[in-house]
Amino acid sequence: MSVEIALHPWRWLQSMWRRWSLWSLLIALVVGVLVTLVWLAGRYEASQVQNKVERDTADAVTDIRAALARNIQSFQALHAADPSLEDWNARATAMLRERRELLRIEWRSPALRVQAEADTPYRGAVFAQLGRDGSHSDVSLSCATARRFNGPAYSTSYFLPQPDGRGLEVMDLCLPIVRSGHLAGHVLATYSLQDMLADLIGRQLTRSQEASFIEADGTRLALYGTSRRGARVFSAQQLLDLPGNAMLLRLDSWRSAPDLLPNVLTALVTCMSIALVSVLVLLAKDMRRRQRAERDLADALAFRKAMEDSLLTGLRARDLDGRITYVNPAFCNMVGFAPEELWGTDAPAPYWPPELVGEYEQRQAIRLAGNVPPREGFESVFQRKDGTRFPVLIIEAPLINAQGVQTGWMSAFLDISEQRRVEEISRASQERLQATARLATVGEMASLLSHELNQPLAAISSYATGSLNMLEHAPADAADTAVALRRIAEQAERAGRVIKSVHDFVRRREEAHEAVAPQALLDAIWPLISLQARKLGVQLRSELAPGLPPVRCDRTMVEQVLLNLARNGMQAMDHPSVQQRLLLLRVTHAGAREGASRPNGWLEFSVADGGAGIPGDVAARLFTPFFTTKPEGMGLGLSLCRTVVEQHGGWLGFEANQPQGTVFRFTLPVQVVDTPAIPRAAVA
Ligand code: ADP
Repeated sequence: MSVEIALHPWRWLQSMWRRWSLWSLLIALVVGVLVTLVWLAGRYEASQVQNKVERDTADAVTDIRAALARNIQSFQALHAADPSLEDWNARATAMLRERRELLRIEWRSPALRVQAEADTPYRGAVFAQLGRDGSHSDVSLSCATARRFNGPAYSTSYFLPQPDGRGLEVMDLCLPIVRSGHLAGHVLATYSLQDMLADLIGRQLTRSQEASFIEADGTRLALYGTSRRGARVFSAQQLLDLPGNAMLLRLDSWRSAPDLLPNVLTALVTCMSIALVSVLVLLAKDMRRRQRAERDLADALAFRKAMEDSLLTGLRARDLDGRITYVNPAFCNMVGFAPEELWGTDAPAPYWPPELVGEYEQRQAIRLAGNVPPREGFESVFQRKDGTRFPVLIIEAPLINAQGVQTGWMSAFLDISEQRRVEEISRASQERLQATARLATVGEMASLLSHELNQPLAAISSYATGSLNMLEHAPADAADTAVALRRIAEQAERAGRVIKSVHDFVRRREEAHEAVAPQALLDAIWPLISLQARKLGVQLRSELAPGLPPVRCDRTMVEQVLLNLARNGMQAMDHPSVQQRLLLLRVTHAGAREGASRPNGWLEFSVADGGAGIPGDVAARLFTPFFTTKPEGMGLGLSLCRTVVEQHGGWLGFEANQPQGTVFRFTLPVQVVDTPAIPRAAVA
C-alpha cells in the first residue's frame, strides 16, 4: 500500500475518496433518516396531545353552556306560580346551596329595584365592601339587553374586591320575568368566574391541566387548576360567547418532564434506529474484512503473476471443449504468438505443424475423452509463428476448480531443443572418444602385433630360405618343396588372421543393436587378448553356462568393453608377486549367483583376475574419465565401459576376487524373441 501511495498519490487519494465518500454519504443518509423519524414521531406525539387539549377545551365550553342553560331554567322556576317573598327566598337559598358558582340571586322589579335577595352560604356577602350600586350601570345595561332579546343576557365581567384583600371576577346574568306578555320583574344572578371553572368543569380537569377565562386581548380573568410547571405546555382556547358577553376559555396542559421516548412509536423508531446503526457497524466491519481479503487476494494475484512471468516453463489451460483459456508469457515466447492470437482458439492450434494436425487432433480427442496422460510427460513437435519447428516436452494434468470439478486441462511445456542439441553433442563426443580409445588400443596392439607377426614371418622366411637352398643346390624333391610351400602358406595365413582380427576390430562399426550369442562375443576378442596373454604369461579361460540365449547389443561396443576389462585384468596381474596368473571370463544368467530360480531377462558377463586388487582411493575415482595409474594409460577405458553398458540398459560394477584380485561384472539384456521394438517415446 505504501508503495502505491509513493508511486501514485493522486490515484490513491481518488480511490480512498471513492470508498469513504460512499460510506460518509450512507452514514449521513441514515443519520438524517433517523433524526427525521424521531422528530416526526415527536411531532406526532405533540399533535396528539394538542388535539386532546383542544377536545377537552371544546368539551369544557359545552359543559359550561349546559350548566348555564340549566341554571336559567332554575331561575325561571324560582318565579313559577307567583311566589311570595319568603318562598322565593327559600328557593333561592336552596339553589345557592346547590350551585356554588352563583354568589347572589336578586329579584328585581321591572324598574330594577331590589325586591328580594339571597347570598351564597359559602362566602360572606360579596357586595358588602363595594355595595350593589357600583355595578348598577352594568346591571341596567345587561337587563336592557335582556329585555331586548326577551331572554337572558350576561354582563361583561368585572372585579369585585373582597374584605380579605383578594377579589373576585364576577359576571351578572339578567333574566326578564314575563307574565302574560308583561314584564313582571327581573332575576339578577351573579356568577363567580373562578367558581364556574371549579364547579362546572373542575372535575373533568386532570392534575396537570389548568383552565382559565381570558379576554380577547389575553387578560386573564379567572384561573383554576394546579399551577404545576413542566418543560412543555400545550394550550387551547375556545370562545364562550354568551348573550351580552364573550370570553375565551383557555386550557393549559403541562408536560411534567421532557420525554426521551414520548410514546411507543418513537420508542419503536428509536429501537429500529439503534438496530440500523448496529447493522451499519456490522456492515462496516464486514466491509473492512472484505477489504483485507481483497488486499490479500491482490497480493496473492500479484505474487502468482510475478511467478508466472518469471517461469521458463510454458503454461496453457484448455477448457473441456479444447479451447485455450489461458497462456503464460513463456508459452507465448516459445511459439511466437501473442496471447490474444491464442485465446479461444480451437483445434487445430496455430502452433501445430500442418502435416501433424491429424495426429494431434486424434491425441486431443483422446485427452478430451478423459484419458489422463502419462505423468512424466510426452514429447511433441510445435511450430513457431515463423514456421520453424522445435521439440517440446508436454506434461498435462486435469484442471480442477475450487468445487473439485474438472474444468479442463492444464499443460506445462518445456522447449527441449537445447537439451536435444546437448544430447547430440554429447553423443558425438562419446563416439569420438570411443573411436579414440579404440585407436589407442590399436596402437598398443601394434607392438604386440609386431611381436606376434615375427613368428610366422620368421617361419616363412626360414621355409623360403630352405626351399631356395633345395632348389639351388640339389635337384629339388617336389614333395619336400611342396611341404615347405604349404608351411609358408600356413604361416602367411596365420599372419593374415592376426592382422585381420585387428583390422576387423578397428573397422567394424555397426550402429544397430542385434542379437549376438555370448560365445560369439568372446570369440571375437579371443585372438586379440590371446596376444597379450601370451606376452604376459597369463592363462585365459572362459566359462559359459549351458543354453544361454543371445543378448541384444551393439556388438562392437560390447567387444570393446570385454577387451578393456580383459586387458585391465591382465595388466593388473603383470607383477612379479602374482603367482597365479589366470584370467577367467564367465557368462551366466544374471541373478544366478543370488540363486534366482528363473532367468530374469539379463545375462551377466564377468572378468576375474588374480591381480593386486583395487585400493580404496583408486576405487573412488575408477570411472572418472582420464583417471589412470599407468604411465602409458589414458584412463578412458572404464568410463567408456560404463557408458556403453548403461546405454544398453545394463549395469557395470566390480568387487574383490578371492583370494585376491578383482572381478568386473556387467549385464546385458537378453534378446526377446518375436517382440516388436519398444518405441523410444510415445508419439506426441
Ligand atoms: P587405463 O587402463 O587407461 O588406465 P581404465 O579406465 O581402464 O584406464 O582404468 C583406470 C584405472 O583403474 C587403471 O589405471 C587401474 O589403476 C585401475 N584398474 C582398472 N582395472 C583394474 C583391475 N582389474 N585391477 C586393478 N586395477 C584396475
